[in-house]
Amino acid sequence: MSRPIRATIDLAALRHNFGVARRHAGTARLWSVVKANAYGHGLNRAVDALAGLTDGFALIELDRAVALREAGLKLPILMLEGFYTADEVPLFIEHRLIPVLHRPDQIHTLLAADWPATLPVYLKLDTGMHRLGFAAVGLAAARAALAGRVADITLMTHFADADGPRGVDWQLKRFAALTAGMELPRSLANSAALLRYPHALGDWARPGIMLYGGSPFPQLKSAAELDLQPVMTLQSEIIAVQTLAVGDSVGYGCTFTADRPMRVGVVACGYADGYPRHAPTGTPVLVDGIRTRTLGRVSMDKLCVDLTDLPAKVGAGGKAANEVVTGTTVTLWGRTGETVLPADEVATAAGTISYELFCALAARVSVLD
Ligand SMILES: *Cc1c(COP(=O)(O)O)cnc(C)c1O
Repeated sequence: MSRPIRATIDLAALRHNFGVARRHAGTARLWSVVKANAYGHGLNRAVDALAGLTDGFALIELDRAVALREAGLKLPILMLEGFYTADEVPLFIEHRLIPVLHRPDQIHTLLAADWPATLPVYLKLDTGMHRLGFAAVGLAAARAALAGRVADITLMTHFADADGPRGVDWQLKRFAALTAGMELPRSLANSAALLRYPHALGDWARPGIMLYGGSPFPQLKSAAELDLQPVMTLQSEIIAVQTLAVGDSVGYGCTFTADRPMRVGVVACGYADGYPRHAPTGTPVLVDGIRTRTLGRVSMDKLCVDLTDLPAKVGAGGKAANEVVTGTTVTLWGRTGETVLPADEVATAAGTISYELFCALAARVSVLD
């Protein structure tokens, strides 16, 4: 193999995290959310790992859903944005894909396409997120139009601040008002609500990020505190070692300048691999399993790490700073041995969330199980 960067996917950890979701869900059933290529982890491997555990899969991408059916997947599949145009509806029917209907014209399209009365649908209600969904008037009309024309209707909404200070109760209230008198199943919770608000699960919860070992609210609780294990580990190697004298800088923009003699490792990983370019000097990184920090700007194919004060590892084979050589393993996030660098910590340092890091993993990075 050539360039040393690779992502490793720990399927046992994925299944463990699903177990955590199951524990929190109680009697609610679970859609495993696998949109965006299973948050960058690889759709097929995630589906294979979870197929014996989950109650269904939720995603966005029609071509990927059809491919799952063609590969023999029998579990329910929920399409989180429904269909966009009428020509997609026959594929939904042929492959028994459950659409989330959020706009009146989708209902007209569905009825015009001779939707079989044996296929269920989801109706999405807007309870305050103000992205997708029906409000009071639209909902009544939608229900009337669908009566007798679909197998059953599940009412769904999405929480805007389940991970934040506003919580979910204000939206639950609106949901209750919108759906008063409707005896229909409900699908409410994302990962954050599933972990924080046991009264806000509904009949079908929709966990995504927690399955992949990211905390939905890292500022409140870490993944480890939630008993979530990292699934993706991104690793590369040191491909050059530099010695800086006082006053020498490193990388584009010369944003980091040494104020003492330093040793710097150059790592084959950059923003074209999916590492966040906005990660500043000081972003945590593991060199040979030992925590240190990045230095200077992340460039397209490389970033720099501080080797200066790396302590010697305890035990045989441990390396002191002056022994770190090219070929040494660098963990950008995930697990190496017993040591974990949560993607949440890297994301926080870079001003983003683990979701974005996982989804941004670039196609040029090989992904291994
Ligand atoms: C992505 C998504 C989810 C999963 O959210 P997480 O925060 O990753 O748990 C749930 N519901 C809908 C509608 C989504 O689009």
